[in-house]
Amino acid sequence: MLRRFVVFPVFCLLLLLSLVAQGQVRHEINFPDVPGYVTLKCDFHTHTVFSDGTVWPTVRVDEAWRLGLDAIAVSDHIEYQPHRADLPTNHNRPYEIAAGRARERNLLFPRAAEITRDTPPGHFNAIFLQDIDPLDTEDFLEVIQRANEQGAFVFWNHHDWKGPERGDWMDVHTQLYEKKWLHGMEVANGSTYYPRAHQWCLDRGLTMIGASDIHGPDLMERMTADQHRTLTLVFAEERTLDSLHQALRAGRTAVWIEERMIGRRDVLEPLFEACFHVAQPHLRTGNAVWTTVKNHSAIDIHLQRAGSVGPERLTFPAGATTLLRVTGGQPDEPIELSYTATNFWIAPETGLPVTLRIPGK
Ligand SMILES: [Zn+2]
Ligand SMILES: [Zn+2]
Repeated sequence: MLRRFVVFPVFCLLLLLSLVAQGQVRHEINFPDVPGYVTLKCDFHTHTVFSDGTVWPTVRVDEAWRLGLDAIAVSDHIEYQPHRADLPTNHNRPYEIAAGRARERNLLFPRAAEITRDTPPGHFNAIFLQDIDPLDTEDFLEVIQRANEQGAFVFWNHHDWKGPERGDWMDVHTQLYEKKWLHGMEVANGSTYYPRAHQWCLDRGLTMIGASDIHGPDLMERMTADQHRTLTLVFAEERTLDSLHQALRAGRTAVWIEERMIGRRDVLEPLFEACFHVAQPHLRTGNAVWTTVKNHSAIDIHLQRAGSVGPERLTFPAGATTLLRVTGGQPDEPIELSYTATNFWIAPETGLPVTLRIPGK
């Protein structure tokens, strides 16, 4: 009799828990894979109650899965713990608490931390760490060295953030760079875009990172072209931690902030090609060709004419099919139109040159 009393509530509890797990719905973020690589949607800069965030680490994992992400890092401040009175210092705990949940949700979840110093040098994220405790030490260069000795990928966060030098590249940054201890920079943090970081990444071969730096709960139901976290798209050989790390080292990333996609030209070109598909024309008249264009991505694509033929401006909404009529020329012949994708930035304020190819008969 006693056994029944124990077993039944336990059974109910298990049933309830299983329903909770099944109740979660994921809304995918639609960015296609590119030739040779899978496109991973990643946020490598988030906080929890273990530093100045207001959510428990598992909540970050649930949000990320629900919102269609493939990889996240919980990167709590090592040196700033306003909830220390309630949560004793244990830098590895956020990772340990959430890692199992990330495995259950098939989410890539590298161990991470934010190295937090006044400017200069500022804040740096180290991801793919083995153990965060050795990074809790006074000397800044020592910290970055230790992170590198663990094989971490290190990037400079929100550089133009505060201080009289306003994110200038100082001697300390040159030191990190020359020792090959600095691998990337946030080109975007939340809704802030950093044009200097963008240019430095291009000039110095640093990896471009975009991240939310989210502190509160994410109340978004799904990410859309209009409303989404600032993310890093990573083009990895496989959907594994090793491939993710390798792709970051190789700089195969694009930053999705608001209605812009930012990246190196050799990265944005194949992404654009994978997103943008012009159909075989369905109607050819004496002086016009009618076709459709599918945008297979989560970002609206804005084109501006760079040549002399074709409509001046074109917009292709995310995930939609758009009717296109092009006049002039020989309707049966293939048509090539020169455009600039004005919201795909290969340098600050510089759109990606693209060719709109309409197949011939
Ligand atoms: Zn920071
Ligand atoms: Zn932060």
